[in-house]
Order: sequence, then C-alpha cells, then structure tokens
Amino acid sequence: MNIRIFGTANDSIVDGPGLRFSVFVQGCPHHCKGCHNPGSHDFEGGTIMTTEELFDKIQANPLLDGVTFSGGEPFCQPMPLYELGKQVKALGLNIITYTGYTFEQLYENRLTNEGYEKLLSVTDLLVDGRFVEELRSLELRFRGSSNQRILDVPASLAAGRAVEAQI
Ligand code: SF4
Repeated sequence: MNIRIFGTANDSIVDGPGLRFSVFVQGCPHHCKGCHNPGSHDFEGGTIMTTEELFDKIQANPLLDGVTFSGGEPFCQPMPLYELGKQVKALGLNIITYTGYTFEQLYENRLTNEGYEKLLSVTDLLVDGRFVEELRSLELRFRGSSNQRILDVPASLAAGRAVEAQI
C-alpha cells in the first residue's frame, strides 16, 4: 500500500523508549506555531513509498525495540500505517504514534472514521495533542510541550477515556 512520507530514521533514541525506526509521514493540517518539522505540512510534498518497502527496512534491523509513527499527521494516513503496524507487531515490536489530535477527538470520531479506529488498534502508546510553543519544555521525555500526554492506548480504549502510560 502506498504512503506519502517526509522521511525515516533507522535508529532513533528520541522518538520513544529504546531503539526505534521512525516513520515521519508527509502532510499535517495542524500548523502548530514553532513546529519542528514544517517541511512535513504539505500534503503534496514528500515521497511516495510502499508499506512493503518500509517493512523491509524495519525487518533489516534486529536491534529495534519498536517503531514510531510521527509526522506530519499519522491519522491523515491511517490505513497504510495500520497495514504496516500489523506487520510490525507480528515481529514483536511495539508502536508509538504521535498525533496533533487529542485521544478524545480520535475516540469520539472512531466510528465514522474507520482509519482512526484501525490505527489506534495497533498503537501501544499515543503521544497526543498539538505542539504549543508557550508550553515547550526540554525537560519532557518524548514530548515537545507539557499539554501533550503519553497514553496507554489499549487501556484507554478499554476504559473509554484517556489513561496515561506509566513509563
Ligand atoms: S502536529 Fe506535529 S507536525 Fe503537525 S504542525 Fe503540529 S508539531 Fe508540526
């Protein structure tokens, strides 16, 4: 399945716990002030790859702990990420998804937007919410601003509300 991407990182240690392969998707509707990846906003930019190509790169690194979907906005391309996510989880790797949406926005719209439900279903940790420059802090682990949360997605889906992860 095709996916439009801004770039990848083969061995990231800043996009979640452990050693991770990061997929930065292309296209973001949020336009947060001070965004660290402004080049990822244009929905016509970036490069088209296939999920198979990405999976081959992931499989080639036996040292990975997990895969991170970031952006751009992953929930604007949820179906290819869901397909890739299923394969990644079959390898025993965990998945972290970054989003400018809140969990509540995704959860409330999951029944009318099948992709939201699908991508949430393969996500272990969700870092949610837009980047707010005024709340930026370098002290935060894996987040840019203090409004953003690291959520345990299976627990959040089971509870029907946002549950913060203990990491
Ligand atoms: S959601 Fe992320 S990629 Fe999109 S504008 Fe905000 S910080 Fe940038």
